[in-house]
Amino acid sequence: MLTIDAWLRQNGARFQHELEILARAYFGISKAEFICESDQSITPNLKNYLSDALVKLKRGTPLAYLLGYKEFWSLEFQVNRNVLIPRPETELIIEKSIELANDGDSVLELGTGSGAIAIALAKERPDLSITATDISIQALEVARENARKHKCKITLEHSDWFESVSGTWNLILSNPPYIAENDPHLDFLAMEPRVALVSGPTGFEALDVLIENAHNHLKPCGHLIIEHGIGQAQEIKKKLASHHFTEISSHKDLANINRIVTAQQVSPEYG
Ligand code: GLN
Repeated sequence: MLTIDAWLRQNGARFQHELEILARAYFGISKAEFICESDQSITPNLKNYLSDALVKLKRGTPLAYLLGYKEFWSLEFQVNRNVLIPRPETELIIEKSIELANDGDSVLELGTGSGAIAIALAKERPDLSITATDISIQALEVARENARKHKCKITLEHSDWFESVSGTWNLILSNPPYIAENDPHLDFLAMEPRVALVSGPTGFEALDVLIENAHNHLKPCGHLIIEHGIGQAQEIKKKLASHHFTEISSHKDLANINRIVTAQQVSPEYG
């Protein structure tokens, strides 16, 4: 008899850990329960499921897409290949939003993808009135499903950055596509939607749209919070200063890398 555990050891190679997580999800059991279960003999169905998953993992499919979910801000978000998989460093946007938002503020998130940022913030701060947009209809469907799952009242709108957005906001947030078109790092992200990762040759294209247009959509003294890539902080801060933002600061992620910038709208005459 071949036990589940033996099959994983013999076939799992460098994906043993991922396959164990998938096997647990297959049974819907905890890690502790799986330790007992893994002494059982492997069924043909489970063997097929894991063999198929192994082929996909070897091809570079992220575990989150195989599971269909990813944890972010201790909440489970549904994901599929139409949305970027939420990253732990993006939680920094939630932390700063909580710090900067006053009671009852309005918040606009641009390029929401799975809805992880808007929904995590709504769970944390039900007083805020949150609108989230995306250019992708398929991504908005995932965000809508996640909002329903987490019983969150957020408004979802279809928009290419600010194009279909009207009104002004106390806070504007975004984790835009900021990877340069020819960045070799993209080879490792090939399964995720390119529109969520790349906006042009330099990596600054979407960031520029946000920085150049935010003042038309921020209330006086409103804040802009944006995530960016490694090495982009100085340039972004320069651009923000030239667009009359104040209180411009960089914030480091858990890997000690400058990852987000916060800035404030200077005064009503730019609003
Ligand atoms: N942080 C992601 C990565 O480098 C990219 C996300 C983005 O472009 N907004 O894997």
